[in-house]
Amino acid sequence: MVEQDIEKRGVKDALALKAMRKVQRHLFVEQSLWPKAYNDHPLPIGEGQTISQPYVVALMTEALALRGGERVLEVGTGSGYQAAVLAEIVKEVFTIEVRPELYTKVRERLQKLGYKNIHLKQGDGYLGWPEYAPFDAIIVTASPNHIPPPLLAQLKEGGRLIIPLGSTTFYQNLTLVTKKGGKAEVKELGAVAFVPLVGEGQKK
Ligand code: SAH
Repeated sequence: MVEQDIEKRGVKDALALKAMRKVQRHLFVEQSLWPKAYNDHPLPIGEGQTISQPYVVALMTEALALRGGERVLEVGTGSGYQAAVLAEIVKEVFTIEVRPELYTKVRERLQKLGYKNIHLKQGDGYLGWPEYAPFDAIIVTASPNHIPPPLLAQLKEGGRLIIPLGSTTFYQNLTLVTKKGGKAEVKELGAVAFVPLVGEGQKK
């Protein structure tokens, strides 16, 4: 999977590739989906939500330009797969899931897998996790139509935030934000498809 779907499509970051090789994606989906776990497409994880396509997980991880030792915030824990990939690279991952059922499921899964550097909470990730801010990097894996100001505020100066931004339900622009002088410097990386970010962000 890593060689065919990720390296051949241009992901080069050694730490991202190593983490993608290490984390077993089948452990993050129901057993009935195991035969499909290493195909390059999203899979259902319950509640109408999906675990992202491996290529997109790799692309977003690479975009954060991690070197190890960072503290990263993830919004949209879902299956916990992206959090696990990040946890292989950085010092600490803080991840927020809004749906209580998914939160309970993922908490058990990450405990079973023994990830001690992933901190999980249930709540609206639009608001970030101010108690642990600032973060070196932030990854948002559900789509809002604007950059959540609380997340920009909780990002370190010079830090990176990767986020699928868009106003349509099915396609968004994968957007890399770098915080420069307190402001967002924005670069678009291409089209992606994520579920919507629900909660406070939808009301704005
Ligand atoms: N990163 C996940 C995939 C996420 S799917 C993985 O690797 O499996 C998007 C997730 O974002 C869903 O689980 C959804 O419930 C969650 N979500 C949507 N809006 C949210 C919000 N405001 N705060 C936190 N999580 C949210």
